[in-house]
Amino acid sequence: MSSRTITMTPALEDYVLRVGAAEPEVLRLLREQTAALPDAQMQIGPDQGRLMRWLVELIGARRCLEIGVYTGYSSTVVALGMPSDGLLVACDIDPQVTQIAQRYWNLAGVANKIRLELRPARETLETLLRNGHALSFDFVFIDADKAAYDYYYETCLQLVRKDGLILLDNTLWSGQVLAPAQSDHDGRSIAALNEKLSRDERVSASMLAIGDGVTLVRKR
Ligand code: SAH
Ligand code: CA
Repeated sequence: MSSRTITMTPALEDYVLRVGAAEPEVLRLLREQTAALPDAQMQIGPDQGRLMRWLVELIGARRCLEIGVYTGYSSTVVALGMPSDGLLVACDIDPQVTQIAQRYWNLAGVANKIRLELRPARETLETLLRNGHALSFDFVFIDADKAAYDYYYETCLQLVRKDGLILLDNTLWSGQVLAPAQSDHDGRSIAALNEKLSRDERVSASMLAIGDGVTLVRKR
């Protein structure tokens, strides 16, 4: 990483979170409740959340797609950034964690903007394509099973409009992308997709070292 990037300390991280932009109370509560769960580290951080909301607002996104909802942090920030007639298609396979998500969508007042698709995301994406929704999405967040990232990326590239955004989460995979051969299957899949993205002329991509790595992709 560039020596121009500031070295983070816990105190500086707290400062960024406190002063950088306040986390809405409903999201603070969701973070607190999720912290008690075994997979809490799957939740995005507040800094990443506000960047995502900012991007949704910047491009005026009204049709969004999320692959990997978990307890709903990222879907809530995306929905908060959309106008009242916006729609987020939210894909997950876990009825338990998405029950928590649905509770917070209601608390945040965004439940009417979100349609939960509780089945393998592949099925939802294929149905969307079959039903004529190609080129209709403005913003996509890919954050589910890593081995399927390449498939999700290719399919979402068909679903988003020109200049639409696709965000891929965990693209640094705890640093294991440096040595994919020693990584797990997920790490190898992510590393291979990163290499492909670095040469992909269909898009303009920018990998950010926040959270566990987030790659911003804009479709040309
Ligand atoms: N974006 C969430 C975290 C997602 S964690 C947040 O910021 O809080 C990954 C989620 O992907 C889990 O909830 C898991 O159930 C879901 N998932 C795993 N495989 C899936 C599949 N094949 N289709 C849809 N969702 C899947
Ligand atoms: Ca993630």
